[in-house]
Amino acid sequence: MQLHVIEEPTCDYCGRNDLGVCNDCNRWRPHMLINKNRAVYRYNPFLKDLITRFKYRGDYILIEALSLMIKQTFITAYSKLPKKTVLVPIPLSSKRLQNRGFNQAEAIAKCLPYPTVQLLRRTEGEKQAKKNRKQRLTMKNPFELMDQVDAELIILIDDIYTTGATIHHAAQILKENGYRNISSFTLVR
Ligand SMILES: [Zn+2]
Repeated sequence: MQLHVIEEPTCDYCGRNDLGVCNDCNRWRPHMLINKNRAVYRYNPFLKDLITRFKYRGDYILIEALSLMIKQTFITAYSKLPKKTVLVPIPLSSKRLQNRGFNQAEAIAKCLPYPTVQLLRRTEGEKQAKKNRKQRLTMKNPFELMDQVDAELIILIDDIYTTGATIHHAAQILKENGYRNISSFTLVR
């Protein structure tokens, strides 16, 4: 399989293969809302196809095939976590959830040894994939809080970290609601 596991060195913040701090993170740095992101695989065309299949055809079995690697990467990247660590998957809009039947971020979270809580919900169903970089960075926050949880650390879970806009929007809502300690973990960077 043409899957490239991300190895050291990685960007201090987003986990992409880079030295020190990558260009995307330099842009974010003044308003960085997460401690760090870590990802399992490097983005490439093969993986892009895989993710598309996974997303749009409900290929749940794919995550099962990758689950061991997902878990190992997570444990290596996040050792010694506080007891009250909670995983928060990035939600789909209810319409898209209905269409697809499952949320891929939640499927990833379920591979990991911490409780998953659906803290966020999407207020609009716009397709992120169709937006360009600038539109993504300036769009209004598509998330809102729908629950509360007692957590020392929240780790946001998503399939892919591209510009970091989705993760940062989610982190922003959490920060506004008093959660101070937020990281993220994605399948792809
Ligand atoms: Zn970075």
